[in-house]
Order: sequence, then structure tokens, then C-alpha cells
Amino acid sequence: MKLEGQVAIVTGGGRGIGSAIAIALAQEGAKVVVNYSRSAASAEAVVSQIIEAGGEAIAVQADVAQATQVERMVKTTLEKYGRVDILINNAGITRDKLLMRMSEEDWDAVMNTNLKGAFLCAKAVVSAFMRQRSGVIINVGSVIGKVGAAGQANYSASKAGLVGLTKSLAKELGSRSVRVNAVAPGFIETDMTAALKPEQMEAATKMVPLGRLGKVEDIANVVAFLCTPAAAYIQGEVISIDGGLFM
Ligand code: NAP
Repeated sequence: MKLEGQVAIVTGGGRGIGSAIAIALAQEGAKVVVNYSRSAASAEAVVSQIIEAGGEAIAVQADVAQATQVERMVKTTLEKYGRVDILINNAGITRDKLLMRMSEEDWDAVMNTNLKGAFLCAKAVVSAFMRQRSGVIINVGSVIGKVGAAGQANYSASKAGLVGLTKSLAKELGSRSVRVNAVAPGFIETDMTAALKPEQMEAATKMVPLGRLGKVEDIANVVAFLCTPAAAYIQGEVISIDGGLFM
């Protein structure tokens, strides 16, 4: 129980990678705020799973792209648990289209959730982190932010932007012992990749030296480690978790 007494907010914690991260942090003893935007029932299911296993968690609705909703989520966290120690910026969406067909709305939706959302959430917790002279932020990026992908200009730019955000905040907040890092998952089995056609899945798997898609736990285990004191000297890193896809 390396996170006993700590409080974590996991954005998009009700489904996919976020739910595995919420559960992994709870297993390490953290009290978890499971944020969701639309999936109330699955967020409540994650909360129930954590509570049944002896942990503590609440579900809090907030669209991470909306400053007032993010501020309310952090206020609710502080009212309920009295502190916040860990922020996992996991919420993310895709609106894949070739550039010629990509609308301004497709661009804005992805940037607002994936990049602006991380900025707003970091901004909302930073004064608590500065006051207590500790805190951890993990941004969930993507291998696509490093290598790009046809049809994903908006998504790739948002994830590359997260790298800049991670490194800048790592420099800005490091002197107050606030650690900021990112993970860059490869192809992970979630609703997001379920949208791929079988032939795309097969092609994706072939590109991975480990010969399989990732599981949500593959990401959650590394994120949980990055939150613990065992990772106390890791700062401003973007850790690939992709079976060797990018190296
Ligand atoms: P997913 O299954 O589609 O889940 C997306 C999550 O983001 C949901 O919990 C969703 O909550 C939440 N979300 C979306 N918009 C939101 C908003 N405006 N405010 C708050 N929450 C919002 O996706 P996933 O595969 O688990 O992906 C999680 C993260 O990993 C994303 O950042 C994604 O880009 C990244 N990633 C995934 C893969 C992959 O292969 N799966 C690879 C690399 C990186 P609601 O349902 O409540 O809206």
C-alpha cells in the first residue's frame, strides 16, 4: 500500500485505461475520484468495485474541457477528502479523419478534451500541490503523439502537445517537489481500439515486437508505479508502454 492516505483524481476513470488506473491506485491505498463525462453507470461500477475491495472512491461528473466543471470536481474532492495528491489526465477522444475532411469542430473537440482538459485539470490542482509541496501529475499521451498517423492530425497534435505540457510543468513545478510525467501507450484493447477494423487490428498487432495488443493493466501498473515514492526521481519523462512499437 504505497499510496496510503493519498487522494487521486483520474479523469475518464469510468472506462478503459482510466478505470484500470483508478483500480490500480486504489489497490495501492489511494482514495480515488473517478471522473466521468457521460458514462455515469460505468463510473459508479468502478467505484463499487473499489469499495467492495475495501478501498474508498467516489464518482464525479465533469467535462474536462470546461473550466467551471473541472474546478467544481476539484472542490468536491477537497470537500470530501480534504486533500488531493495525484492527478491522472487520462480523458481522451478521437475524431479521426483525413485532413481534407477534418472539420474545425473535429480539431477543436479533440484539442479541447485531450490537451486543454489536461491544462485545466493541472491548473485546478496546482495551488493545493504548491501549498503541500508535493503532488504527482501523469498525462496519458500516445505513441501517435510521437510518430503521427494519417487521419489523426488532431489526435496526434493533441498528444504531442501533452509532451510539451508535461516537460514544461515538470520544470515549473519541480522545485516544489511536484512530479510531472507522461506515459505513451501503444495499441491497447479498449473501446477506442474496438473501433478498428479486423484487418487494421491484425496490421497493428504485426507491428508490435511483443506480438500482442496491450491490456489496460499494462498501462495502469506503470502509472501506479510513477505515482509511488519508488519513482521519486523521475521527472518530465514520457514513458512508452507499447510492446516495443516505438523505439
Ligand atoms: P476509451 O475507452 O474511449 O475511454 C475514454 C475515456 O475518456 C472515458 O472514460 C470517457 O468518459 C473519458 N472522456 C472522454 N471525453 C471526456 C471529457 N470531455 N471529460 C471527461 N472525460 C472524458 O479510451 P481509452 O482507450 O481508455 O483511452 C484512455 C486514454 O488513453 C486516452 O487519453 C487515449 O487517448 C489514451 N490512449 C489510448 C490508446 C488505446 O490504444 N486505447 C492508445 C494510446 C493512448 P465518458 O465515457 O464518461 O465520456
